Amino acid sequence: MNKKKSGKIVGILGLQGAYQKHIDMLDQLSVKTLLIRYPEEIDKCDAIIFPGGESTTMSKLIDNMGLREKLKNFSGPKFGTCAGAILLSEYCDDERVNTLANVPINTKRNAYGRQIESFVTEIQLSNEHNHTPFPAVFIRAPDLVIINNDVEVLAEYKKKSVLVKYKNILLSSFHPELTNDIRIHKLFINLIELE
Ligand code: GLN
Repeated sequence: MNKKKSGKIVGILGLQGAYQKHIDMLDQLSVKTLLIRYPEEIDKCDAIIFPGGESTTMSKLIDNMGLREKLKNFSGPKFGTCAGAILLSEYCDDERVNTLANVPINTKRNAYGRQIESFVTEIQLSNEHNHTPFPAVFIRAPDLVIINNDVEVLAEYKKKSVLVKYKNILLSSFHPELTNDIRIHKLFINLIELE
Protein backbone atom coordinates (compact mmCIF):
# COMPACT_ATOMS: atom_id res chain seq x y z
CA MET A 1 0.00 0.00 0.00
CA ASN A 2 1.25 3.51 -0.83
CA LYS A 3 2.27 5.63 2.09
CA LYS A 4 0.28 8.84 2.38
CA LYS A 5 2.09 11.76 0.73
CA SER A 6 2.63 14.86 2.88
CA GLY A 7 1.12 18.15 1.74
CA LYS A 8 4.44 19.74 0.83
CA ILE A 9 5.36 20.06 -2.84
CA VAL A 10 8.94 19.89 -4.06
CA GLY A 11 9.46 21.54 -7.44
CA ILE A 12 12.18 20.14 -9.66
CA LEU A 13 13.63 22.38 -12.32
CA GLY A 14 12.76 20.42 -15.44
CA LEU A 15 14.44 22.40 -18.20
CA GLN A 16 17.26 19.98 -18.94
CA GLY A 17 19.36 17.29 -17.30
CA ALA A 18 18.93 14.67 -14.59
CA TYR A 19 15.57 15.63 -13.07
CA GLN A 20 13.72 12.31 -13.37
CA LYS A 21 15.89 10.51 -10.82
CA HIS A 22 15.13 13.19 -8.23
CA ILE A 23 11.43 12.57 -8.82
CA ASP A 24 11.97 8.83 -8.29
CA MET A 25 13.84 9.50 -5.02
CA LEU A 26 11.10 11.76 -3.69
CA ASP A 27 8.46 9.19 -4.70
CA GLN A 28 10.29 6.74 -2.46
CA LEU A 29 10.03 9.27 0.36
CA SER A 30 6.32 9.80 -0.42
CA VAL A 31 6.87 13.48 -1.23
CA LYS A 32 4.82 15.22 -3.91
CA THR A 33 6.79 16.68 -6.82
CA LEU A 34 6.12 19.16 -9.59
CA LEU A 35 8.28 19.80 -12.65
CA ILE A 36 9.09 23.47 -13.06
CA ARG A 37 9.13 24.86 -16.58
CA TYR A 38 7.02 28.00 -16.23
CA PRO A 39 7.17 30.82 -13.63
CA GLU A 40 3.67 30.16 -12.21
CA GLU A 41 4.74 26.66 -11.19
CA ILE A 42 7.29 28.10 -8.75
CA ASP A 43 4.45 29.67 -6.72
CA LYS A 44 3.05 26.20 -5.97
CA CYS A 45 6.30 24.84 -4.49
CA ASP A 46 7.50 24.59 -0.89
CA ALA A 47 11.06 23.72 -1.96
CA ILE A 48 13.02 23.43 -5.20
CA ILE A 49 15.61 21.00 -6.53
CA PHE A 50 18.08 22.19 -9.15
CA PRO A 51 19.29 19.00 -10.88
CA GLY A 52 22.53 18.17 -12.60
CA GLY A 53 22.97 18.60 -16.32
CA GLU A 54 24.70 21.37 -18.21
CA SER A 55 24.89 24.62 -16.28
CA THR A 56 25.60 26.78 -19.35
CA THR A 57 22.47 25.47 -21.08
CA MET A 58 20.33 25.68 -17.94
CA SER A 59 21.45 29.25 -17.32
CA LYS A 60 20.26 30.22 -20.81
CA LEU A 61 16.98 28.32 -20.49
CA ILE A 62 16.25 29.97 -17.13
CA ASP A 63 16.30 33.31 -18.94
CA ASN A 64 14.45 32.08 -22.04
CA MET A 65 11.64 30.72 -19.87
CA GLY A 66 11.47 33.86 -17.71
CA LEU A 67 12.31 31.95 -14.51
CA ARG A 68 15.35 33.85 -13.24
CA GLU A 69 13.81 36.31 -10.83
CA LYS A 70 11.40 33.86 -9.21
CA LEU A 71 14.06 31.18 -8.85
CA LYS A 72 16.55 33.60 -7.35
CA ASN A 73 14.07 35.08 -4.87
CA PHE A 74 12.35 31.84 -3.87
CA SER A 75 12.82 31.71 -0.10
CA GLY A 76 12.01 28.04 0.66
CA PRO A 77 14.65 25.29 0.85
CA LYS A 78 16.70 24.67 -2.29
CA PHE A 79 18.88 21.72 -3.22
CA GLY A 80 21.39 21.98 -6.06
CA THR A 81 23.19 18.90 -7.36
CA CYS A 82 26.24 19.28 -9.60
CA ALA A 83 25.18 21.73 -12.36
CA GLY A 84 22.38 22.77 -9.98
CA ALA A 85 24.97 23.66 -7.34
CA ILE A 86 26.78 25.79 -9.92
CA LEU A 87 23.56 27.66 -10.70
CA LEU A 88 22.97 28.47 -7.02
CA SER A 89 26.55 29.61 -6.36
CA GLU A 90 27.71 33.18 -6.03
CA TYR A 91 30.19 32.99 -8.86
CA CYS A 92 31.19 30.45 -11.52
CA ASP A 93 34.54 30.41 -13.34
CA ASP A 94 32.70 30.11 -16.69
CA GLU A 95 31.24 33.46 -17.66
CA ARG A 96 28.56 31.79 -19.79
CA VAL A 97 26.87 30.74 -16.55
CA ASN A 98 24.85 33.54 -15.00
CA THR A 99 24.43 32.19 -11.47
CA LEU A 100 21.55 32.90 -9.08
CA ALA A 101 24.07 33.88 -6.37
CA ASN A 102 22.15 32.33 -3.46
CA VAL A 103 25.15 30.66 -1.76
CA PRO A 104 28.51 32.34 -1.01
CA ILE A 105 30.70 29.84 -2.78
CA ASN A 106 32.67 30.01 -6.02
CA THR A 107 32.27 27.09 -8.38
CA LYS A 108 34.80 25.70 -10.85
CA ARG A 109 33.21 23.65 -13.59
CA ASN A 110 34.45 20.14 -14.41
CA ALA A 111 37.08 20.27 -11.65
CA TYR A 112 37.09 16.47 -11.24
CA GLY A 113 37.71 15.70 -14.90
CA ARG A 114 35.76 14.87 -18.03
CA GLN A 115 32.74 12.57 -18.50
CA ILE A 116 35.05 9.59 -19.10
CA GLU A 117 36.71 10.27 -15.75
CA SER A 118 33.41 9.91 -13.83
CA PHE A 119 33.69 7.85 -10.65
CA VAL A 120 31.86 6.61 -7.55
CA THR A 121 33.51 6.95 -4.18
CA GLU A 122 32.51 6.53 -0.56
CA ILE A 123 32.23 9.70 1.50
CA GLN A 124 31.41 10.30 5.14
CA LEU A 125 28.43 12.47 6.08
CA SER A 126 29.47 14.67 9.00
CA ASN A 127 25.93 15.17 10.32
CA GLU A 128 25.56 11.46 11.04
CA HIS A 129 26.99 9.37 13.82
CA ASN A 130 26.61 5.90 12.33
CA HIS A 131 29.51 6.36 9.86
CA THR A 132 27.87 4.38 7.08
CA PRO A 133 29.62 5.77 4.00
CA PHE A 134 27.57 7.41 1.26
CA PRO A 135 28.21 6.32 -2.34
CA ALA A 136 28.92 9.60 -4.15
CA VAL A 137 28.68 9.65 -7.95
CA PHE A 138 30.90 12.30 -9.56
CA ILE A 139 30.15 13.21 -13.18
CA ARG A 140 32.02 16.26 -14.50
CA ALA A 141 31.58 17.61 -10.99
CA PRO A 142 32.33 21.18 -9.94
CA ASP A 143 34.65 22.27 -7.17
CA LEU A 144 32.70 24.14 -4.46
CA VAL A 145 35.01 26.79 -3.02
CA ILE A 146 33.65 28.31 0.18
CA ILE A 147 34.04 32.09 0.51
CA ASN A 148 32.04 32.66 3.70
CA ASN A 149 32.34 30.98 7.10
CA ASP A 150 28.59 30.58 7.42
CA VAL A 151 28.68 27.82 4.83
CA GLU A 152 28.67 24.48 6.65
CA VAL A 153 30.63 21.53 5.23
CA LEU A 154 28.63 18.29 5.51
CA ALA A 155 31.02 16.08 3.51
CA GLU A 156 34.47 16.24 2.00
CA TYR A 157 36.34 14.23 -0.58
CA LYS A 158 40.13 14.54 -0.64
CA LYS A 159 39.88 17.65 1.54
CA LYS A 160 37.47 19.37 -0.86
CA SER A 161 33.93 20.29 0.20
CA VAL A 162 31.45 18.19 -1.76
CA LEU A 163 28.26 18.62 0.29
CA VAL A 164 27.55 21.99 1.89
CA LYS A 165 24.68 23.75 3.60
CA TYR A 166 24.00 27.46 3.76
CA LYS A 167 20.86 28.57 5.61
CA ASN A 168 18.12 26.42 4.02
CA ILE A 169 20.11 25.57 0.89
CA LEU A 170 21.93 22.30 0.30
CA LEU A 171 24.51 21.84 -2.46
CA SER A 172 26.31 18.71 -3.60
CA SER A 173 28.99 18.47 -6.26
CA PHE A 174 27.97 14.82 -6.80
CA HIS A 175 24.68 13.11 -7.72
CA PRO A 176 22.87 11.61 -4.69
CA GLU A 177 19.84 10.85 -6.87
CA LEU A 178 21.83 8.28 -8.88
CA THR A 179 22.21 5.93 -5.91
CA ASN A 180 19.72 3.92 -3.85
CA ASP A 181 20.73 5.82 -0.74
CA ILE A 182 17.99 8.26 0.25
CA ARG A 183 19.80 9.90 3.20
CA ILE A 184 20.69 13.19 1.51
CA HIS A 185 17.21 13.64 0.04
CA LYS A 186 15.82 12.93 3.52
CA LEU A 187 18.09 15.61 4.93
CA PHE A 188 16.66 18.03 2.36
CA ILE A 189 13.08 17.07 3.16
CA ASN A 190 13.82 17.72 6.84
CA LEU A 191 14.69 21.30 5.89
CA ILE A 192 11.16 21.72 4.53
CA GLU A 193 9.64 20.31 7.70
CA LEU A 194 11.63 22.90 9.70
CA GLU A 195 10.22 25.86 7.74
N1 GLN B 1 29.93 19.85 -15.83
C1 GLN B 1 28.55 20.20 -15.79
C2 GLN B 1 28.38 21.71 -15.77
O1 GLN B 1 29.28 22.41 -15.49
C3 GLN B 1 27.87 19.60 -14.59
C4 GLN B 1 27.79 18.11 -14.73
C5 GLN B 1 26.69 17.48 -13.98
O2 GLN B 1 25.72 18.12 -13.58
N2 GLN B 1 26.81 16.19 -13.83
O3 GLN B 1 27.37 22.20 -16.03
